[in-house]
Amino acid sequence: MRMMESSEIPAPQRREALKELLVQARGCERCPELAATRKTVVFGAGNANAELMFVGEAPGASEDEQGVPFVGRAGKLLEKLLEEIGLQRSDVFIANVLKCRPPGNRDPLPVEISNCQDYLLRQVELIEPAVICTLGNFSTKLLRGDPTGISRLHGQPEVLELGARAVRLYPIYHPAAALYTPRMLETLREDFARLPELLAMGAPEQSAALPEPELALDGTSEPAAATPGEDGADAGAEADQLGLF
Ligand code: URA
Repeated sequence: MRMMESSEIPAPQRREALKELLVQARGCERCPELAATRKTVVFGAGNANAELMFVGEAPGASEDEQGVPFVGRAGKLLEKLLEEIGLQRSDVFIANVLKCRPPGNRDPLPVEISNCQDYLLRQVELIEPAVICTLGNFSTKLLRGDPTGISRLHGQPEVLELGARAVRLYPIYHPAAALYTPRMLETLREDFARLPELLAMGAPEQSAALPEPELALDGTSEPAAATPGEDGADAGAEADQLGLF
């Protein structure tokens, strides 16, 4: 059960604001190649009120088809690891650095990461998780604002100020990397096992000096340059996403 802090956004408003952000994201054309090749915008899914948020890299083919993050083999492993610590997907929120699939599953480009980061930062601002678990290099480097790699950082929690919130950032290996490497899977499992302890600590102390969050709870402000688009062939899958959090 989430402990309510005085600064927190009430759950229904949090969910509505996330829906508004989803609608903005589904029309986004900031990355012309990704907008032209995607089937769906994979915004993120899970509990809008989650204490724990996971951030992966980018949707793959299955995610692009279904409009839901981590539904392929890496996702099955993520679900298994969650079960092992007594959690389910519906307890957490899962998002990615990129909301659109890079063609051929190539790495996200720096310009794409930069174009998409407003969406992720606003998801964090709205969900207000106590712990953000970054999966692999891309999300770890982006949220830490530092090029240090995951093999040096995994399993080491740190308190980080993201926008108006202090969060516990917990970098771990990406489940896709652990699928074929038993030793990495063992490390990932060990790092995962520390998550309950971290969650029990709750959110870190919030600094009084931090600015009040500027939230578009009434839909008046948008992430910069997100272009509202028209409903395309993917509208059905995208509409389903509204039920995902
Ligand atoms: N890998 C990711 O990083 N994200 C997904 O959604 C699926 C696989």
